[in-house]
Amino acid sequence: MTEQAFMQVRDMTGPFEGSDRAREIIDRLGAYFRDELIPLAEEHGVTHEGGAERALLRQVWKRSNELGFYGMTLPREMGGAGLSLVDHVLVKEYIYSVGCPLAPHVFGELSGPPRIGALVRYATPDHFERFIHPVARAEKSICFAITETEAGSDAGALQTKAVRDGDTYVLNGRKRYISGSPFADLALIMASTSLDPEVREVTAFVVEANRPGYRLQADYKTLAGQSSTADIFLEDCRIPVTNQIGELGRGLSLALGRITVNRLLHTPAMLGLASLAMEDARAHAMKRRQFGKSIGSFQAIQHMLADMATELTAARALMLSVARSLDAGADGRAVASMAKLFCSETAFRIADRAVQIHGGEGIIQGTRVEWLFRMLRMYRVLTGTSEIQRNTIAKALL
Ligand SMILES: Cc1cc2nc3c(=O)[nH]c(=O)nc-3n(C[C@H](O)[C@H](O)[C@H](O)COP(=O)(O)OP(=O)(O)OC[C@H]3O[C@@H](n4cnc5c(N)ncnc54)[C@H](O)[C@@H]3O)c2cc1C
Repeated sequence: MTEQAFMQVRDMTGPFEGSDRAREIIDRLGAYFRDELIPLAEEHGVTHEGGAERALLRQVWKRSNELGFYGMTLPREMGGAGLSLVDHVLVKEYIYSVGCPLAPHVFGELSGPPRIGALVRYATPDHFERFIHPVARAEKSICFAITETEAGSDAGALQTKAVRDGDTYVLNGRKRYISGSPFADLALIMASTSLDPEVREVTAFVVEANRPGYRLQADYKTLAGQSSTADIFLEDCRIPVTNQIGELGRGLSLALGRITVNRLLHTPAMLGLASLAMEDARAHAMKRRQFGKSIGSFQAIQHMLADMATELTAARALMLSVARSLDAGADGRAVASMAKLFCSETAFRIADRAVQIHGGEGIIQGTRVEWLFRMLRMYRVLTGTSEIQRNTIAKALL
């Protein structure tokens, strides 16, 4: 496929927008997918929905680390390659446009290095040694847990409590919908340290998953069929005070400190997947014949494809322009929200048209466009809903 889909969008948008280094990384990634990850996924029957066993994921994380990909997106002080955001989004867009079900694990998207970038300003040398370096080296995995039943978009409304007891904290509460928790060794947990229910004081802690009182419940699947998300129950879970990250009451700024960059960094995944939907629709339009002609000869189908390509090109341009302005040091809060909003809504519209072009095949479970449609629907909710992005944009305007 998919190199083709990627290059097609690229051809329309002109020469490669990143550095020579990013181009070289993409070339090496292409070989890694072709020679190792795609055959590995096939050999083990890994699908987009089915996911992989923990042992296989560990193998992929370690191999990606050996090849220098796994921690590459971390800041330099955490062992990363110090990529510009423009290079970062281009490399990540490529990874997702390959269409391999193991793609998110090359950077450890669910429980690897992207989960620890926010710690850089707060971590002590002890935290580096026990948590950050092992995650960056693919020896341990970590999930990030803020959401609770009563604390979703209103992330500060936490009910999970951490109560100090001598040299320890005792944690009680339940974290909901935590990505990567089924395979995580560590969890970055946001908890309330306030004794007064009227006062919000959120503090960050790392909790090891093998501590007594830490348990998972994973009795649901996402719309896209994956089961890489679970709830974390903390029941009198005792951790040393040295597991506190940053100062008391600074947890939300730690959690949301990189929110602008993180919002941008979700967009290449959406657009990489949207380019797959686009390519599948284009291929189907050329192959499928009705009324004695290929359906791609009907103007209605051509116009859908034209709209898909136009919107994909516009979304890429926005993603890259926001990456450039953040690289140049702009605050970028509102424009990063614009990118997250526009790219997620656009990617979903592209998938919707791709389903339409496939006709009945598009609504039969098991076809790729049908999965892409469900997957791309999720991004309009994940990591800050479209409404919350609009709130951020409006706040900047008013
Ligand atoms: C598959 C999956 C993976 C996830 N991974 C993680 C993870 O790893 N870590 C983690 O901490 N969380 C995670 N989450 C939680 C996710 O971030 C939240 O589900 C999301 O932020 C929305 O919160 P909510 O579900 O409570 O929705 P709600 O906040 O209840 O929102 C419901 C509706 O109300 C709207 N709404 C709420 N407030 C406002 C407002 N002020 N103005 C306008 N509209 C508003 C929303 O836009 C939405 O349409 C995950 C969720 C899922 C489903």
